[in-house]
Amino acid sequence: MSLIDLRSDTVTQPTAGMRLAMERAELGDDVYGEDPSVNRLEATLAERLGFAAALFVPTGTMSNLLGLMAHCERGDEYIVGQQAHTYKYEGGGAAVLGSIQPQPIEGEADGSLDLGKVEAAIKQDDFHFARTRLLALENTMQGKVLPMEYLVAARELTRRRGLGLHLDGARLYNAAVKLGLDAGEITRHFDSVSVCLSKGLGAPVGSVLCGSEALIAKARRLRKMVGGGMRQAGMLAAAGLYALDHQVERLAEDHANAERLGAGLRELGFEVEPVQSNMVYVQIGERARPLGEFLAARGIRVSPAARLRLVTHLDVQGGDIAPVIEAFAAFQKA
Ligand SMILES: *Cc1c(COP(=O)(O)O)cnc(C)c1O
Repeated sequence: MSLIDLRSDTVTQPTAGMRLAMERAELGDDVYGEDPSVNRLEATLAERLGFAAALFVPTGTMSNLLGLMAHCERGDEYIVGQQAHTYKYEGGGAAVLGSIQPQPIEGEADGSLDLGKVEAAIKQDDFHFARTRLLALENTMQGKVLPMEYLVAARELTRRRGLGLHLDGARLYNAAVKLGLDAGEITRHFDSVSVCLSKGLGAPVGSVLCGSEALIAKARRLRKMVGGGMRQAGMLAAAGLYALDHQVERLAEDHANAERLGAGLRELGFEVEPVQSNMVYVQIGERARPLGEFLAARGIRVSPAARLRLVTHLDVQGGDIAPVIEAFAAFQKA
């Protein structure tokens, strides 16, 4: 039985072309700055996203952590969404390892943070308070694409109030493909951007942090400190480069598959949130666990939750969508 794994876009296997690129990668010791493949990946992404420098790291969690720690010192604060990865899903790393206080605020339905609420959360210069230094956004945010005019407004606010602006762009390319824009059009509004190569782009491992020379120099020191300095990492960087050159446009297929999946489930009467990229959110309520078991018996993997997230990716084919919809239909009748 072939498996359809809708838990996450992290589950993809490297494609044949990617494996070949990995095998052929030129290698060196990246802690010495001597891995040509890593250097090429960093230079390529910095150039494409409009930054002076970039840093290859093992995970998006590390990339975000280094970004936050490069912007903020001990006793500083970043403003972030209550549901943002950089607040909720990274083990509290900014607070634990960076002594940086998060100031979470409730997000809006479109994935943005209300800029009025952000501005109200900025603390005065008063020794009672942590120093507010940074606004951290996420795009896509649970599959939602932030509107371009929102990014302009967030840039204007952070510039006016002297804050840095960081983007958790784990799925930056999903947003860019959805908008039909060059990814650099999105990233030019930010001071730093973290991009995951191991999500929809399909690389096995890796993220890249982009920023100014000074920010990346600081992040490079911090990367060593947290144990993220890798040696012949070029095989992983080569996978990332391959993904950037060959597996970006195809994200549109994931979006189309998610759209069809959402429409099919809606037709069955399920409450499905509007689909914008590669994620489908379905209200399942108390039936989540039995549904998970029912689907698993039919070779479909999901992470059971009352608000169920289904994610399309490189290893979900167009032909997989109909059987998934059929399985949900069978579950409803059972
Ligand atoms: C996956 C993800 C990350 C980083 O995750 P790692 O598993 O550490 O690579 C960061 N932000 C978002 C929004 C993510 O989905």
